[in-house]
Amino acid sequence: MHDANHSAADKDGQGLSALDGQRRPLVALAVGLLAGFCLLLASLQGWSAWHAYEAAEEDSRVATTNITRALASHAETSIKLGDAVLAEMVERIEHDGLGEAATARLTGRLREITHDVGELHGLFVYGPDGKWLTSSLPRPMQGNNFDREYFQFHLLHAGRGTHVGVPVRSRSTGVWILPLSRRLEKPDGSFAGVALATLNLAWFGRFYEKFDVGAKGTILLALDSGTLIYRRPFRDEQVGMDIRNGSIWRRIQNDAPAGSLVEAPKVDNIERVYSYRRLQGFPLIVASGLATEEIFAGWRRTTLQTAVLGAAAMILLACGGVVLVRQIRIRERLERDLRRVGVSLKRHNASLQSLADSDALTGLANRRLFEDRLVSEYERARRTGAPFALIMADVDHFKQYNDRYGHPAGDECLRKVAGAIECGARRPADLAARYGGEEFAVILADTDLTGANAVADTIRAAVAALNLDHADNPAGRVTISMGVYVGHPALAERNDPLAWVDVADRLLYEAKDAGRDRVVSREGHEAAV
Ligand code: GH3
Ligand code: MG
Ligand code: MG
Repeated sequence: MHDANHSAADKDGQGLSALDGQRRPLVALAVGLLAGFCLLLASLQGWSAWHAYEAAEEDSRVATTNITRALASHAETSIKLGDAVLAEMVERIEHDGLGEAATARLTGRLREITHDVGELHGLFVYGPDGKWLTSSLPRPMQGNNFDREYFQFHLLHAGRGTHVGVPVRSRSTGVWILPLSRRLEKPDGSFAGVALATLNLAWFGRFYEKFDVGAKGTILLALDSGTLIYRRPFRDEQVGMDIRNGSIWRRIQNDAPAGSLVEAPKVDNIERVYSYRRLQGFPLIVASGLATEEIFAGWRRTTLQTAVLGAAAMILLACGGVVLVRQIRIRERLERDLRRVGVSLKRHNASLQSLADSDALTGLANRRLFEDRLVSEYERARRTGAPFALIMADVDHFKQYNDRYGHPAGDECLRKVAGAIECGARRPADLAARYGGEEFAVILADTDLTGANAVADTIRAAVAALNLDHADNPAGRVTISMGVYVGHPALAERNDPLAWVDVADRLLYEAKDAGRDRVVSREGHEAAV
């Protein structure tokens, strides 16, 4: 019965390991939180880098689209100018003819126009056989342009619109020119020659050089039949080149008026973001491209910087995490140790308590515990209205036993008698105690007179069964006498549980007087019976 405290301490010991299990998640939680935070940081950086990349790409598309729009507008203006001049020339020649006076007047006018308009390289008039009739050149020149592409075109096509020819080197000045031409007709509609206006490609070049497309960017002007007119950076041998097999040309959709694409052309293998646009009313395409390497240089630098900063933050965080986890572990260990110390302290206290409550010789409860229990059981019986029994027992003629067999034998006898008494009071609520010397007391909670007498008889029989020799006892062996007092504390007028001991003691002495080795029992409700 005194082991109750030990089992409580054991329970605490098991609780310890269960608590350890609960503590583990704290480290896991800390690691998880830090890992989650790092992941969040990394994905945030990744997301913003991706966003910045897309923004840079979009910006470059917008920039090339704007450049291309300006290029297209410039080319359109220049060609419309040539077209207007040609229209005037054709109208004049067909109206005034090419008599000597008319030709002289025309030549003057052509020179005037060429002088005023920078884009115009020259204005020329050819007869039906390709012969030079007049031009804006300062001095008359002899020659035949029958072989030129534009001449052949008008010879074979009856259309009156302006034809944009393939770029050629001028026969008169040797510079690269873009020929614009119109067909001259006699009043009957037959071929009468060609009026030609040539645009100076260097003029285009000067305009194109003004755009900032970076060191690796490019600008293109081409006939939509696939003939290159101008490409920045300008190279002589590229003028008039067929670019139909180039990767860019293949990706320009034939029906789309404008568009964008990313491509690395074979000519220089530099990847660029290109935007292209078709001119309205003329068979020309302009395009501009910015090198991706230059577009993303700034992005790359910023991304690298933020990645380095992010990595540094993560390393710091990881270091902090290691310290944190270490601290948690140390704290957990301390807590565990503390709890262990607490448990062993509890056990120690429990064993101290049980030592303090028990009698050293017999191991039964001592008088202090007996009296505590007597009071608490009495109070309980008073509350519940249950009957309550108290047995006082005393070894008969024990003085003589000691005298005859010696004190150590007397101690041994007391131990055995205590064992017999404990055997008789075995219900959990029963308490057997050594009251003092060779006197014992038993509390029987919730027990009436019949039950108490039965327990007393059992104890008496158990002592008798020990069969311990006692020559000075008329019975010849060790016997005990008992006083049993049973009552209902709920019915008592005076509540004095300790006084019940006196009553039971008096009954015990009645038993002694009546010849010993017997039980005297009585039922009553008051201590003063
Ligand atoms: P009665 O039948 O009337 O009870 O006679 P008794 O001799 O048993 O009564 P008494 O009270 O005169 O004697 C009790 C004796 O018990 C006195 C003491 O020597 C002995 N005794 C008390 N405590 C111990 C103990 O712890 N060990 C031993 N060996 N003897 C004890
Ligand atoms: Mg005695
Ligand atoms: Mg005695």
